Amino acid sequence: MISKFIYKAMEQSSWIRRMFETGNEMKKKFGKENVFDLSLGNPIIEPPTEFFEVLEKLSSLRSSGKHRYMSNAGFDDVREKIANYLSKKNLLKTDKNHIIMSVGAGGGINVILKTLLDQGDEVIVFAPFFAEYEFYIRNHHGKVVISETDDQFNLDLKNLEKKITPKTKALIINSPNNPTGRIYDEQTLREFVQFLNDHQKKYNKDIYLISDEPYREIAFNNIKVPSVVPMYENSFMAYSWSKSLAVPGDRIGYIAVNPAMPNASQVIGGLFFSTRILGFVNAPAIMQLAAGELLDTMVDINYYEKKKNYIYDKLVRAGYDIVEPEGTFYIFPKAPGGDDLAFIEKAKDKNVLVVPGLGFRRSGHFRISYCTDDRTIEKACEQLVKLV
Ligand code: PLP
Repeated sequence: MISKFIYKAMEQSSWIRRMFETGNEMKKKFGKENVFDLSLGNPIIEPPTEFFEVLEKLSSLRSSGKHRYMSNAGFDDVREKIANYLSKKNLLKTDKNHIIMSVGAGGGINVILKTLLDQGDEVIVFAPFFAEYEFYIRNHHGKVVISETDDQFNLDLKNLEKKITPKTKALIINSPNNPTGRIYDEQTLREFVQFLNDHQKKYNKDIYLISDEPYREIAFNNIKVPSVVPMYENSFMAYSWSKSLAVPGDRIGYIAVNPAMPNASQVIGGLFFSTRILGFVNAPAIMQLAAGELLDTMVDINYYEKKKNYIYDKLVRAGYDIVEPEGTFYIFPKAPGGDDLAFIEKAKDKNVLVVPGLGFRRSGHFRISYCTDDRTIEKACEQLVKLV
């Protein structure tokens, strides 16, 4: 018998598994080209040419000693390059001692939570949110507390006021946001940070902010995504190249700690140790080296923006109610009729696979992921238009 914790967690996320299995069955039954799968956030775009060039260069290195165990935080020179990049781009003025290489953002968030949480500590997440957060928090014996965003998917401080307690240890925010595509603007973030500072004082304790930023560069209309990490002392950035280089299978990212964090050296010691004892030991060596050479390289954002424009225009014209995404490769319309589970069944009957809002803890919506080919998107939209 497996652990009760994992058994329950698997049950809870079974709709994802069911959808995956249904998709596979449908593809067998109707043919792959007749099933329009908009459920997965797994980009079909290939990484930029520069990525393969760097890999070729790295594979020609012999006896470089780069494949041994290393500091749990990763290669010093790569961390230094990242710190310089963040400083230059005004994302965070920092140095290499505040950068810890991670196994993607998922790995980074787990390392941060492991470092921070004691049994029963509360972590606030903002619905709708990336479903894995709940499992990540519970992995480290934390308690998930859900705060609702408003109807435009912006942070709602009135709601947050009801959720924050003396047991709140951390909050996770994600902008550009999966599943909504919302980017929090500077003013929103400033008010949010003021709120957190006030509550740190009120409860006389540290409240940590984890800014999950795997979609940082995927912003449309040339929006500059404001960086919350320098605004708040007790904050971490969890970054990943999964989306910006389209390499989610290669598992590479980093954690950046705000150098102004009181107690930063103890926290960083905790991050090193947690990287080790979670069994990551360190982020993949080759991928650290590659990412360090590709800090200014990314996939073509226009590729996603064009797809977003196509879907948004098509569905809005058909009568769907949608908050226009500002970034990422997701769109989160209201489910016609209001019942997201009933709606995804109707979509399935038209061979279209989308994810119910319930999976992101906001029922009444559904998520389209458009990091796929144009034909799939066009065919899926044709069917979705018929369902409104
Ligand atoms: N955070 C969000 C909001 C995501 O959407 C994802 C992946 O889709 C992750 C974290 C995990 O990313 P990674 O592949 O870097 O672990």
